[in-house]
This record gives sequence, structure tokens and C-alpha cells, in this order.
Amino acid sequence: MGQLNTFPLSYKVRGQRIVIIGGGEEALNKARLVTKTTASVVIISRHVEIDFSSVEAVVLVRPFEAADLDGAALVFVADHGPDGDAAKLAARARNIPLNVVDIPDECDFYTPSIIDRAPLTIAISSEGDAPVLTRLIRARIEAMLSPHVGAIAGLAGRMRHRVEALIGDNAARRRYYEALVQSPAVETAASRSPVAGVFEAETLLEAHAINIKIGSVALIGAGPGAEDLLTLRAQRLLQEADVIVHDQLVPAAVVQMGRRDAEQIDVGKAKGHHSFSQAQINTLIVRLAREGKTVARLKSGDPMVFGRAGEEIAALRKAGIAYSVVPGVSAALAAAADTVTPVTLRKVSSGFVMATAHGADDADLVHWAALAQSGMTLALYMGKSIADAVAARLIGQGASANLPVGIVVNAGRAYRSMYRGTLSGLANGAVEFPAGPAIIFVGEAVAAGDWADAAELAAQSFKVA
Ligand code: SAH
Repeated sequence: MGQLNTFPLSYKVRGQRIVIIGGGEEALNKARLVTKTTASVVIISRHVEIDFSSVEAVVLVRPFEAADLDGAALVFVADHGPDGDAAKLAARARNIPLNVVDIPDECDFYTPSIIDRAPLTIAISSEGDAPVLTRLIRARIEAMLSPHVGAIAGLAGRMRHRVEALIGDNAARRRYYEALVQSPAVETAASRSPVAGVFEAETLLEAHAINIKIGSVALIGAGPGAEDLLTLRAQRLLQEADVIVHDQLVPAAVVQMGRRDAEQIDVGKAKGHHSFSQAQINTLIVRLAREGKTVARLKSGDPMVFGRAGEEIAALRKAGIAYSVVPGVSAALAAAADTVTPVTLRKVSSGFVMATAHGADDADLVHWAALAQSGMTLALYMGKSIADAVAARLIGQGASANLPVGIVVNAGRAYRSMYRGTLSGLANGAVEFPAGPAIIFVGEAVAAGDWADAAELAAQSFKVA
């Protein structure tokens, strides 16, 4: 590893003055950067070429005077004329750290790329060698961070005296801070208000002071099954979980985005083998959280859409366990994207209904009558094995036999397959679909999609009973 020619540090500027010489774009860029601080910023130039009203700074339109630097904390020179030269001399005479824009040799310090989540700052520097690289790295780090990480850092600072008072042991304090900065419950509270954050941090502190770990459950939408359709928040919470409780529909590659040493429990309810009943899952997540574990309850698509989330949340509420919900890309939306189908479309479809295809055999006529008459795009879940009966039921309730139908098996995944046709084509017989979950779209808007790669439903060979 090479040696650094600069040393990164956080330099106190609160209550001090930062002086910028120059009246153009470069001066404005530096002003934007330093006005992130609580220092007072003064810009001096005889010619002000651009509008500085977007930054909170005092602009003096006059020649530079050496006395302008008396007591200044930092000086930026973004002026290539005599004022700039005079300012460089004056800064050096006073030993004030100097940055000369775009002339690295004349700089005492460089300004890094900054991620500002006050009080948390991340500064990335290449000593001026590769600003493009530092910007790219900055974007990657930005994506990893919760938008509330600054609030959490501030909260940790506010808790310091309390933690010192309640926890004597250094290692125990560290464990508390580790829990504090990773707790989804604290994050949710801190994002609401500082007071709510302190309340949650206090609860955690009291538990740590008497050595109890508080568990929590995050109901996380995994999306349709492609790793890159997971949200950044889902990925982060998976990384923080002690246990990942997932459904069978969530592919292994997505589950593996969790921490490597996290326990993984498959409560898969594949059709036919009911390994865990819903009641058993409810009991399981409550028990794990009571053991103090951070539980990621990973569900396919969005947890609130046909995910039995209502029952799990009721169980968590009843047990008094902290929980949060992270949305995911629901299968119907992935199917719409795969087939470029605008599920709402001006003058064609005024809405989009996510509905269960179950009930085709039940006497649940209200459900089918409402769907048949809605005039909206239908996205039917859980209907693959009964697709023909579903189509017949819709026609029976008054839907046009010519209504376009589109089916996507394994939506959002690399190996998806698509089918298109009409309600009557689908009603005519059972199709041999490939393995995997499917969305059935019904409605005029389906015809506006791109189904060029789809197989014709009518041309399918029908199952012989
Ligand atoms: N919460 C999930 C739905 C779970 S119910 C979501 O929001 O997507 C299970 C049903 O979802 C399946 O029967 C199927 O209709 C649908 N489904 C889930 N993943 C799918 C996928 N990748 N492609 C097509 N349909 C899918």
C-alpha cells in the first residue's frame, strides 16, 4: 500500500470564518461545499459574475485586502488575477490553510467528495488524482446508507451521557451502540422525530443495562425473485438480521443476500407440502423476536399483497414486539414490466385490480361478478392451475369472451415465459404451463403491451384428462 501525502481529518470551523476569493463558478462550488458547515462564509471579488443567492454567504464586491484574512480558519482562492495572488501571500503569511482551486501544487489541503448526513460525514479523497473515481465511490456508498443514518448518528451522540451513567463496562457499551445503530425500530422512530428516537433508544438502553436483547421483526418484500429487484432497504435489513424466515417462493439467491452467518428458516408452503402452518409461522417469529433476535421475515413480492402479513402483524402486535414493513415489487408489477403492459391506460383502463384467482370453485360469485364488470385491468394471483376455470367464471359473470388475456410465469426472472390470447381461448382448456408462479392479466390494456415473445393461448396443446 502506498503512503498518503495528505491526512484526512475533521477540522472544527464552527463560529469561524471561511474566506473565498473569486466571483465565478469555481467560487460558487466551493461556497456550496463550505456552507454545509456552521462557519460564516465570506466571498470577496471585484467582479461578481454569477448569482450567489443560493448560498448563505456574505458577498463583498470589492478588491481583496490582506486584513480580510485576519482570524480566518480556511482560505479558498478561485481568482486567477491580482486579488488571488495577494490572497495567497496573505494566507501564507498568516499560516492559514489555503486551497487554490485547480492548482494542486499550491494547495495546503484538498476538498474531498463529501457525503453529508450531519453529524455523520463521509469524505472520499484521491489527493486530487481521480475525482471521477471518488464521485463514483461516493454514489455507491450513498446507496448503501439509510437516509436516516444522520439522525441515528445524532441520536447516538445524544445518548452518550445516559449510556455512561447506566453501563459501566466498555464492551457492554459497545454492544449497546451496535444494537442502537442497527435497530430497525430505532431507525423508524428516529426518522419520525428526535423525541421518538430518544424514547426508542432509552428503551433499548434500559434493556441493555439489565442485559436483555430486544428482538424485532421486519416484514420484507423480496420482489419477484431477481436479486436486483430487491430494494436497498430490504438488502440492508437482510444484512442486519440474525434470522431470515422466508417463503418457498423466495429464490435462494435472494435469501443469500443476507448476512452469511444469519440463520435461515424456510417456512415454504409449496402447494401440497404444508411444512409450516400460518399459525406456526406466527408463533415462530414471535418466539425468535422474544429470544432477542433481529428477524427478517422475507416474503415474495410485496408483503402486504397476498402475503398473510395481516395475520403476522396481528400476532406481533399482540405480543408487543417491534415490527416494520418494507415494500417490495409485487409480481403483477414485475409482469407488467416484463410485457411492457401499461396496466392503467387513458381511455382504456381506469384502474388496476390485484385479485386472487381462488374462489373459482367456491360460490364466491360476488368476487367474480365484481371482477367481470370492473372494466379495469385484472391481475390475478394464485391462478395458474385453475386458469381455465377462472376464465370460464369471468365469462359466466358477463365479461366479454374476446377480452385480451396475458399470462406471465416467473415474472421478473430471467427464465420467465409469456402467453397471450383471449378469455375464451383460456377457458377452452388447461394449458401445460412451465413450473413457477404466474400472474394472469385480463383486460383491454393487455393488448397495448408488448407480447411479441408470448405463446398463443389458443395454439397450446390442451391437457387430456
Ligand atoms: N406477495 C406476493 C404474492 C404472494 S401470493 C407478491 O406481492 O407478489 C403467491 C402468488 O404470487 C403466486 O401464486 C403468483 O400468482 C404470484 N407470484 C409470486 N411471484 C411471482 C413471479 N415471480 N411471477 C409471477 N407470479 C408470481
